Amino acid sequence: MMQLYQPLNILGFAYREIKQSLIDMEKMFDLLKIEPEVKDAPGAQDLDVDACSVRFDDVHFGYDPRRAVLKGLSFEAEAGKKTAIVGPSGAGKSTIARLIFRFYDVTQGAITIGGTDIRDVTQDSVRRNLGVVPQDTVLFNDTISYNISYPRPEATKDEIERAAQMAQIHEFVSRLPDGYETLVGERGLKLSGGEKQRVAIARTIIKNPPILILDEATSALDSETEAEILTSLNALASGRTSIVIAHRLSTIIDADKIVVVDGGVVAEEGTHEELLGKGGLYARLWKQQSSTRAREEFEQA
Ligand code: ADP
Ligand code: MG
Repeated sequence: MMQLYQPLNILGFAYREIKQSLIDMEKMFDLLKIEPEVKDAPGAQDLDVDACSVRFDDVHFGYDPRRAVLKGLSFEAEAGKKTAIVGPSGAGKSTIARLIFRFYDVTQGAITIGGTDIRDVTQDSVRRNLGVVPQDTVLFNDTISYNISYPRPEATKDEIERAAQMAQIHEFVSRLPDGYETLVGERGLKLSGGEKQRVAIARTIIKNPPILILDEATSALDSETEAEILTSLNALASGRTSIVIAHRLSTIIDADKIVVVDGGVVAEEGTHEELLGKGGLYARLWKQQSSTRAREEFEQA
């Protein structure tokens, strides 16, 4: 009994860890044969939309029913535009990303993509339309090439290299003795947080999804590398519906709309200029970060 119980326990642990870090689950569920918590509605059809706007309508949600994280959150990420989500740590920003991916169902309200409630369509079809670059990327114990191409195994060597170039990881990989065939992960070469993040970005470029979700995708990088990668991410985001969760406000000033989340609801929304003009929470966060930035620059000089 013990022997049976332990591996299951380890699987449970791995599942929770992976779920938390929002790795592409399509593959994981297959590999581990895990029954997902969220199931397709009987007779659910595939999501079939052209204009991929993402809308939260009075969304309530808590991991524990006794403690609500989102308490009537409403906003729209318009199709083809860049919407930034900012707010204090613990405000529920990553939770928003997990709910769009349908790791969990909302307890009240609805999330719609192109007007369709995501609970009415198959999870697979929702996830096919989403590209997520999470806060912490989990790599498979396999080659770099596999790790980049698994959303589209038929991708050619050229496509993989082009994606790696866009994600600024190609030069690093080319210098490894085994190049793209280098084994990574727990049993292979350990990549730094920034390198893993670039593999995740290359993977998303290969997937080519209409909706892009970046959850503090560049937080593990130093500011110089961050600036380089933001250029590639902006190129990738162009023409797609993108939802960018950001800690450093300096990375999202160009967003079409900034949604400030606090206390489980939208505290305010608008462009960078509009929000500065309002003199509310965003303006305060901006002021705090500007003085920290000035101090860091002074110390580096
Ligand atoms: P943010 O990304 O804005 O920092 P999160 O969305 O990660 O915040 O978390 C929002 C709240 O939900 C936090 O209080 C956090 O502790 C809690 N939380 C996050 N994930 C879980 C989980 N898997 N189980 C229970 N509570 C969680
Ligand atoms: Mg987060």
